[in-house]
Amino acid sequence: PGWTPQTEQEKRIAYMLFAPPDQALANILQAGLGMADPKLASVLIEDAVETRKALLDWGARFDQQGLRSHGVPIMEAVRGQLHKTDAVVHDRTMISDLLVHDGECVGAVGVDENTGETVVIQAGAVILGTGGDANLFLHNLNPDDTCGDGYVLGYNAGAELTNLEFKQIFLGTVYPTRNMLLQPLPTHVRLMNAREKEFLPDYLPKGATADECLRQRNGHNPFSTRDTLSRYLDIAIVNELRAGRGTDHNAVLLDRTDERIPPLTGPRSEFWAYRGIDFSQPVEISTCHHCSLGGLRIDVNGETTVPHLYAAGEVAAGPHGADRMGGHMLLASQVFGARAGKHAAAFASGQKQRDMPGKVSAQAEERIESLRRGDGASEPEPFRAALHHYAYFKLLVTRSAHSLASFLGDVKGISEELSRFTVTDPGAIIETLELQNLLLLAHIEAEACLMRTESRGPHYREDFPRQNDAEWLRNVVVKKAGDSPQVTTAVIDPSWKDLGDDKIGYWG
Ligand SMILES: Cc1cc2nc3c(=O)[nH]c(=O)nc-3n(C[C@H](O)[C@H](O)[C@H](O)COP(=O)(O)OP(=O)(O)OC[C@H]3O[C@@H](n4cnc5c(N)ncnc54)[C@H](O)[C@@H]3O)c2cc1C
Repeated sequence: PGWTPQTEQEKRIAYMLFAPPDQALANILQAGLGMADPKLASVLIEDAVETRKALLDWGARFDQQGLRSHGVPIMEAVRGQLHKTDAVVHDRTMISDLLVHDGECVGAVGVDENTGETVVIQAGAVILGTGGDANLFLHNLNPDDTCGDGYVLGYNAGAELTNLEFKQIFLGTVYPTRNMLLQPLPTHVRLMNAREKEFLPDYLPKGATADECLRQRNGHNPFSTRDTLSRYLDIAIVNELRAGRGTDHNAVLLDRTDERIPPLTGPRSEFWAYRGIDFSQPVEISTCHHCSLGGLRIDVNGETTVPHLYAAGEVAAGPHGADRMGGHMLLASQVFGARAGKHAAAFASGQKQRDMPGKVSAQAEERIESLRRGDGASEPEPFRAALHHYAYFKLLVTRSAHSLASFLGDVKGISEELSRFTVTDPGAIIETLELQNLLLLAHIEAEACLMRTESRGPHYREDFPRQNDAEWLRNVVVKKAGDSPQVTTAVIDPSWKDLGDDKIGYWG
């Protein structure tokens, strides 16, 4: 109440927040550039109000911390409910494989981080809520445990994945703290490399200005090819870093230190101050992985293509497409989390515990045991750092057949080194399992990006720079076939038409 949107961006946010349901659905589908599943997007809108009400009933307070809170009130409310049940919680346990028997998911295997012991859990149904894959990339805005495990768990269990080529990429600070830089960027900034050169103009097409590039980039948070110029900011940053003209922390400098510039005010400046971002000196920033829009294919109940295996949150794909509406990642996690929970519980509670032959878990247990054999002298960190670096420069902002083929070669090389690994302490076992997962995921994602020979939203192919609706209103689908990913396409929204960017409330 009492809020009057002032800026162009605020007006678009207001339009999104107060859109009636049919307009909200149309917004999602337009933002998704034909890659969102209309059935899942409809469910997202239908269940939104009820889901929010349930969270409020559980004590979630969304209004207290403004920009600082993000998902925290949701986590607190859900955790509060969990502790009221008699559920057994295996805290600090990494699930490394799912158990599949007769084509159905029947449980999971993991490692207890404290003891290093292998844990085998039989279950009527399994719901994955393992988040995204941000830690595949050198610069990202997520906690360190977001390693794409869920995608790989589902893939190895035989589930289909889709939209893996669509990543949200935001500007963020890199050092001394890691934070997203909310758009619009602070006014009157200069963007410089470590040699104090303003580099953006070097990357712009003839006749384009840096001001217009920044104006377009300020219209949305994520990197995208849907407008004409904004992409060049991220492309310029990555290329400067690639050329070795970044700082020691692989960053460029955002400089707002000229004393003639008026000080920053308003909620964004409060947010930056709260997160320790100090604009009285040049700030080290880069273009960073923010969140992933693809993942396991689910139906309206959150069930994947493997019976009794469910997915919700960033690990699941479909309610969003190539780009998404702001706030909808958290909304989707709650809407499909609730649906998956109800559906899985209804199935599992009607089941007797099934007999499970020992061989079902033997392979998963052997994956862990094989790491323990040997002298335990291996050190995963240097390999992880190398993978981060390659993935950031060859798989994230700019992609081409050449960079992706080169990246697949890097992944193969690290995977071969890793096959000789032996580790003994529990932390190193978990790090190595995560690295194995990241390598497999890197392979799958590179194949998906190779398949899409066009640019769409955040998927930018230097060798195919245009969106090609005539051939590519199709989703790339990946599934395990033997030891390799099988990459195909499927049409998920046959009636989609591009109505133009200005028809979307606010995406970002
Ligand atoms: C800085 C930032 C700001 C954002 N702001 C917004 C916003 O305003 N609105 C919005 O809609 N979205 C936003 N997003 C995106 C959104 O926050 C995420 O997509 C969402 O939090 C993901 O929730 P999740 O429950 O799927 O996964 P997560 O919150 O990442 O949780 C996954 C959990 O699974 C655990 N896990 C992972 N692998 C395993 C394993 N193998 N075994 C056991 N446990 C495992 C992890 O430890 C973690 O606890 C933001 C993202 C970032 C990075």
